[in-house]
This record gives sequence, C-alpha cells and structure tokens, in this order.
Amino acid sequence: MNTRLDGKVALVTGGSRGIGRACALALAAEGATLAVQYRSDVDGATEVVHAARLLGLEAIAFQADLADPKAADQLVGAVLTRFGRVDVLVNNAGEMTDAAVKDMPDAMWDQTMEVNLNSAFRCTRACLPGMLERRWGRIINMTSQAAWTGSKDHAHYAASKAGLLGLTYSLAKEVGPTGITVNMVAPGRIATEMVTSRMGGREAEWMAQTPLKRLGEPEEIGSVVAFLASEAASYITGATLHVNGGMLMA
Ligand code: NAP
Repeated sequence: MNTRLDGKVALVTGGSRGIGRACALALAAEGATLAVQYRSDVDGATEVVHAARLLGLEAIAFQADLADPKAADQLVGAVLTRFGRVDVLVNNAGEMTDAAVKDMPDAMWDQTMEVNLNSAFRCTRACLPGMLERRWGRIINMTSQAAWTGSKDHAHYAASKAGLLGLTYSLAKEVGPTGITVNMVAPGRIATEMVTSRMGGREAEWMAQTPLKRLGEPEEIGSVVAFLASEAASYITGATLHVNGGMLMA
C-alpha cells in the first residue's frame, strides 16, 4: 500500500495541538513537507515543526487567527510564497463554545461559522488553482459526528460542521474530473482539550454511548487523514470516514 507523501506539501490548520498536531505528525511521518497553522499556541506549533525537521523534512509554523475573514487568504499566500504549492490541505482548525440557542448572541454564532466553516472554504479556494493546474490534490475537512446527531448547547458548532458536508460533497463533484479528492473525517469524542474540558462527571454517560468504551486518541484521527492524503486512497472522494469508536454508525 502506497502511503508515502514524499515531495508533497501539506497545510494543516490548527496544527499546534490536539487532532491537528496528530494529523501534521502523521503526514510528516509519510514524508510530507509541513506548513502548520496555529492561532495562539506558538510553543505547540514549534514543537510540531521541530519533530518534522528531526525527520529531515522542511516544516514551518504560520500564525493566523482564522476568525478574521482575511486570514485564510493571507495564510495560504504565505505558504505558497514559502513552499510554492499546497498538495494536501487539512481544514482542521475549529473551536467550540457553549450556549443554548435561545441565549446565543450573533457574535458567537458568527465566530463559529467563521473559524469552523468559512475559513475552510477560503483556504480551499486559495489552494485550488495550484491543485487544478497540477491535476492532483487532497482536501480533507474535519467535521464532527455532531453534524449528524446534533449537540445540546452546540447548535452553532453542529451547524458549522454540517456546513462542511455541503462544501465537501459539492466540491468533490466539481473537481473530481481533475483527480483532486475531497473528503471528510468525522471524529467522535477524542481526548483533546476540546473534549476533556467538558467531561466533568459525564464519563459514564459517554462510555455507555461508545462501543469501544474509551475516548479516541488524536493519533487515531491522524492516521486516517494520512491515509486519505495518500495514493492508497486515490479512489475515495466525497466520502466521510467516521472515527468514533462506534458511537454513531453511519
Ligand atoms: P483543540 O485541541 O481545541 O485544538 C484546536 C486547534 O484549532 C488549535 O490548534 C487552535 O490553535 C486552532 N484554532 C482554534 N481557534 C482558531 C482560530 N480562531 N484561528 C485559527 N486556529 C484556531 O481541538 P481538537 O479537539 O484538536 O479539534 C480539532 C478539530 O477536530 C476541530 O475542528 C474540532 O471541531 C474537530 N473535532 C474534534 C473532536 C474531539 O473530540 N476532540 C470531535 C469532533 C470534531 P491554537 O491552539 O494555536 O490557538
């Protein structure tokens, strides 16, 4: 099975920690040159870059706050200036805040859409011209099982992740004839700050919902992303790979 990514340039948004960090390291392990976007965790991003360089790879961290509508184009522009291409784009950066719909201010809804959905659209749009020219590209969007199940106090989050379905499936149809693939990974509950910070007393409830009886590890998402990025996944497009310990069988 050919999973190598030698000579490919991968951009991972939200690559400083959690799932994005694991995706970046999994892509680097297959030989990809790495562009790691972070917002605030410069130490985390730097550590990922150093790990990739220890493998003899080129890697650079790029700061961007993707809540700013201009940031995605600036980010991709900076990566293209440095590396000349993006072959693999992992739209992973995301945030989750908590509020019932009746209490949710516009600003909270808008911020979530901007970071989780709009920035994925803009990064994708900015990477597409080069992918189309080379007739090769991998776009991998990090959705969530919440897009299928909903999530109390997270309507904004679930809606942003459901929005990625429309983007992914539509773009897969648009660019399929060029050989670019567009897919999603839908994690269940993975042991990152986003989830562990909300666990408080709910572990038994969560485990009862999970046939594999544990949280997932970020590396269990990273390996799936690296697979989707590789030639081994060349006939997969417009697909969602659910990685959730059996919580949602879709
Ligand atoms: P996390 O540990 O909270 O990490 C979030 C990442 O996104 C960080 O690298 C963070 O950068 C970046 N980020 C947050 N807001 C940003 C902004 N405004 N602009 C740019 N970057 C921003 O979360 P995670 O659990 O790894 O989640 C990663 C992705 O998987 C998200 O899209 C999330 O929705 C999705 N997901 C996670 C789970 C789960 O169980 N953990 C389940 C389903 C889906 P800094 O650290 O530099 O600020």
